[in-house]
Amino acid sequence: MKTILVIEDERDLLDLISFNLEREGYRVITALDGTTGLETARSGSPDLIILDLMLPGIMGTEICKILRKNEKTSNIPVIMLTAKGEEIDRVVGFEVGADDYVVKPFSNRELMLRIKAVLRRAEPDKPADKIIKVGDITIDTGSHVVTSGGEEVVLTTTEYKLLLNLAERLGRVQNRDLLLKNVWGYNYVGDTRTVDTHITRLRTKLGAAGDLIKTVRGFGYKMEAS
Ligand code: CA
Repeated sequence: MKTILVIEDERDLLDLISFNLEREGYRVITALDGTTGLETARSGSPDLIILDLMLPGIMGTEICKILRKNEKTSNIPVIMLTAKGEEIDRVVGFEVGADDYVVKPFSNRELMLRIKAVLRRAEPDKPADKIIKVGDITIDTGSHVVTSGGEEVVLTTTEYKLLLNLAERLGRVQNRDLLLKNVWGYNYVGDTRTVDTHITRLRTKLGAAGDLIKTVRGFGYKMEAS
């Protein structure tokens, strides 16, 4: 049974989400504020966190950043809830390391689909473990450890999948829609800029070796060994 932590300060919404999650067979733990949410994320080892953006005291984006910095919580997938549908909120959500977002008001069905997709992405890969080397980048598909120039790079689940997707298809251009389908795992509604945001972040994290991810103007991305 998967455990989901819901951090949301609107009690009615928290109760509704919890009710729906339990009905789907998830174990639910909750927090009404950011501080408690952070403690629960560390102590409760959830498989996924649903995190409201606007929380009293400490913002959801800040919580996400703290989660990503902590070794114990850095790999837990996060779905951000945002009240405003503006692009800026979406981008901010991804820049701090969220795996996906849902804009309020959302349907229960939409939230459940997103949760299933994110959990599926977080599952370890089935094929035999192997080491993939591209230039200075090394990807261990067994341990999911990525190094760049010998230094370990801490990636979110989505960033890791994106890198693996490009590295396994070395030299081949992949368009944004295909990457959305392969990495995000379902037909994402509309926004291919999601891919761009994640690529930018991935490149930054990889340092100098980030240049191995090439932009193919008007089409998508590819990875090359040099
Ligand atoms: Ca709120």
